[in-house]
Amino acid sequence: MSADTSQEQGPSGAGNNFLRNLIAEQIATGEHAGPVVTRFPPEPNGYLHIGHAASICLNFGLAEHFNGACRLRFDDTNPDAEDQEYIDSIQADIQWLGFEWEGDVRYTSQYFAALYDYALYLIDAGLAYVDELSPEQIREYRGTLTEAGTNSPYRDRDPAESRAMFEAMACGEYAEGTASLRAKIDMASGNINLRDPVIYRIRNKAHHQTGDTWCVYPSYDFAHGQSDAIEGVTHSICTLEFEDHRPLYNWLIEQLPVPAQPVQYEFARVNLNYTVTSKRKLRRLVDEGIVDGWDDPRMPTIAGIRRRGYTPASIRAFCDMVGVSRSGGTVDTAVLEHAVRDDLNPSAPRAMCVMDPLKVVITNWDEDRVETLTASGHPDRDDLPERKLPLTREVYIEKADFREAANKKYKRLVLGKKVRLRNAYVIEAHDVVKNAAGEVVEVHCTYDPDTLGDNPADGVKPKGVIHWVSASHGKQALVRVYDRLFSVENPAREADLLDGLNPLSLEMYAGCWIEPGLADVAPETRVQFERTGYFVADRYDHAPGAPVFNRVVALRDTWAKIEQRGA
Ligand code: ATP
Ligand code: MG
Repeated sequence: MSADTSQEQGPSGAGNNFLRNLIAEQIATGEHAGPVVTRFPPEPNGYLHIGHAASICLNFGLAEHFNGACRLRFDDTNPDAEDQEYIDSIQADIQWLGFEWEGDVRYTSQYFAALYDYALYLIDAGLAYVDELSPEQIREYRGTLTEAGTNSPYRDRDPAESRAMFEAMACGEYAEGTASLRAKIDMASGNINLRDPVIYRIRNKAHHQTGDTWCVYPSYDFAHGQSDAIEGVTHSICTLEFEDHRPLYNWLIEQLPVPAQPVQYEFARVNLNYTVTSKRKLRRLVDEGIVDGWDDPRMPTIAGIRRRGYTPASIRAFCDMVGVSRSGGTVDTAVLEHAVRDDLNPSAPRAMCVMDPLKVVITNWDEDRVETLTASGHPDRDDLPERKLPLTREVYIEKADFREAANKKYKRLVLGKKVRLRNAYVIEAHDVVKNAAGEVVEVHCTYDPDTLGDNPADGVKPKGVIHWVSASHGKQALVRVYDRLFSVENPAREADLLDGLNPLSLEMYAGCWIEPGLADVAPETRVQFERTGYFVADRYDHAPGAPVFNRVVALRDTWAKIEQRGA
């Protein structure tokens, strides 16, 4: 991928990236010299979601654009919720999106020794002290937005004593919550982050990377900037909620003998309507069995979106369309769906799948006759192989494509009328077979042998074309029709998150019929089922001979209509 250097800026944000413009200016004016180094710093406490994709595209994209480097650093300062499963999935997701981090995977925990030394440095300089207030007391003493905080009685502890105590804390001589290390800044600061923030706390918990080595762990704020400096990160990009932490980030960089001077920049989080992008909420959906794991095709996780059938290119295109800004807002899920249609329409081979089958018997077709017709793989592409379509006396069509009687608007099969079987002959319906309940279970038709190809004789050119699959040569498949997981625009605003769930987010079609050539495709093969939508052979459940397809997205946006109706 190579980023475009032109200044494409559309109202929707297309390509608009204020950070790219800013860095270009820094380079032009000499304010920044040397390589541009960024990092993507996920906390390994869940799977990555579509918002993270925006951050990934931004950080890796900037490095690519300026010929710099982007690192992957797991921000693993909190041993509580972190897990190797998340570390593995995050790496796989970034690679799948098409990005490569520079060098080895890094962990903030690699710098625990260096960070510990920086903490001692602050203590010795009189800029940090061991506090023995409880976490609750620290909160009380902190003050509010309108009231200054109160100094801790331990604030003026002698540095030598703080040092000895901190070393004892690190040796496990204090219980959790009985002591912490605080930076000594200003309890009256208008910025609460500067009111003597806790920079080290005791946690008697094994860490997934460092085991039992540590029982004191640095705070995010203490670890982040110093890790950036150690790694030579030049542009440390995070989301807007860290804007108020920037003064602390800068204070620490100024006070400590760090090897570089990284600068923090913020951008607005990317949120989507009809979904949630908070790991905590997503975890709840997983834990309560609402979805089938973090990579359920309805989840907004990268692993879920992948399983749904989205391509990496479509996600990158989406991030481009959304752009990067400081103002935020919520992006319409339709934009994401549009991005994948745009990518799949020119690339996905066409195929036929009957999801709700009704048998058609072609009464003037011999019992044993099999005619192998051919169809192009894609209307605009000669490079895709032709498909072989066996036509037999019995075929399946969609139930919805037949009516005993209908007005002119209905351009499908009607008793006494003609329709074209896609890529095959014109048929005419002349009889039906019904079951005891009066439902049509079979339609009897005749075909016209002179109607194959593009130029049928005048008078037989029917308006309608319907898809079909041979009853004896087609293959059965399980098709899962996925839709949005939530049917309300802002699920987080519901009294309970689960109140906003869409009851039709998954519909299973067990008895579908597909073209024979489709039964053996590899997992993650994407196709367009003509007239129906885009589908993907499931990454895990599909096996040659036992096909399982997921709907990626319908051919057109049906939610826009629903929203209009609701308005
Ligand atoms: P969550 O609230 O979903 O748990 P987080 O911010 O705690 O997200 P991290 O693992 O800390 O998740 O995030 C890694 C990087 O991704 C951070 O730089 C963070 O700012 C960025 N990021 C997370 N969510 C979004 C989002 N919705 N839009 C853009 N960037 C995001
Ligand atoms: Mg976080």
